Amino acid sequence: MLIIELKFIDMNKIAVLTSGGDAPGMNACVRAVIRGAIYHGVDAYGIRYGYNGMIDGDIYKMKSYSVSNIIQRGGTILKSARSEMFKTKEGREKAFLQLQRRGIEGLIVIGGDGSFTGASIFYEEFSIPTIGVPGTIDNDLYGTDYTIGFDTAVNTALDAIDKIRDTANSHDRIFFIEVMGRHTGYIALECGIGGGAELIMVPETSTSIEDVVHTLEQNSRLSKTSSIVVIAEGDEEGGAIATAAKVKERMPDKDIRVTTLGHIQRGGAPTARDRILASRLGLAAIEGLLSGKSNMMVGVVNGKLVYTSFKEGINTNKSLNQELLRMVKIMSI
Ligand code: ADP
Repeated sequence: MLIIELKFIDMNKIAVLTSGGDAPGMNACVRAVIRGAIYHGVDAYGIRYGYNGMIDGDIYKMKSYSVSNIIQRGGTILKSARSEMFKTKEGREKAFLQLQRRGIEGLIVIGGDGSFTGASIFYEEFSIPTIGVPGTIDNDLYGTDYTIGFDTAVNTALDAIDKIRDTANSHDRIFFIEVMGRHTGYIALECGIGGGAELIMVPETSTSIEDVVHTLEQNSRLSKTSSIVVIAEGDEEGGAIATAAKVKERMPDKDIRVTTLGHIQRGGAPTARDRILASRLGLAAIEGLLSGKSNMMVGVVNGKLVYTSFKEGINTNKSLNQELLRMVKIMSI
């Protein structure tokens, strides 16, 4: 039997918020934080609308039943927001006073690197112990192999690619499918491999229009009648519409279509992987906080829970898996 020994500091009230873009699995994480806190005898508060709610005092006590029946739901019951006010000293002072008034001694922030930048500045100013949990579909955070929501987004995109492939095949078409990921290509890489894409275009590697045309012509010579190109929204060629237009100029005889998957990738019920990851990270966040950790993000690296300082996490880029990148080329011949 595995016995985890935890040495706890004296902390009686904590609060949790979700910030930045929503991601499937955030609810499962909120549930884990609240239930973990209650299990350890700590009062748990939810802050609605991210940092805006902290500034406005939109803070309420949560019970175990407050998080009933949410593990399977996408989005976030705490709502999310982007807060310009929190970027000002005045806004952060107001937020601190709201926590202080309620005697809240620790904070858990579920979000992306923007949210952690805010949390880090807040910690430096007011010394409220804070732990971050990586919640973003983009998987662009250093200090964790996977972020909450990424697996669901990849599977949603994969499902769409499978469906588009049917049409691509039936009509001998080339499809450019744009997926999310902000400045990174994680979603594109994984759904591209899973969906058997002929080409994957990501911001981390440079793929010129000549390269795209060359690959598509080569596919034709290999008697492939249809092709799927998965392109990350942040790719340097400017997304699916712009890239498809440039390719069409070079290949006017080809039937080229574009699909931008957009926000369907953010929604929906989280996959089992995301629910389990979110539950692990949520519990590790509260237990980390209660054992004196602060100003850090909790993540999972090689299957193990790890804590990385906000500073290191924010300042380090996570690189794409080179082995997967190499495989794309081989698998598309
Ligand atoms: P994500 O957390 O998904 O990366 P954003 O980049 O939109 O999302 O950041 C979420 C919120 O974090 C912002 O709306 C803002 O309130 C806060 N934030 C981001 N950068 C800073 C900063 N430099 N100072 C204070 N707060 C910040």
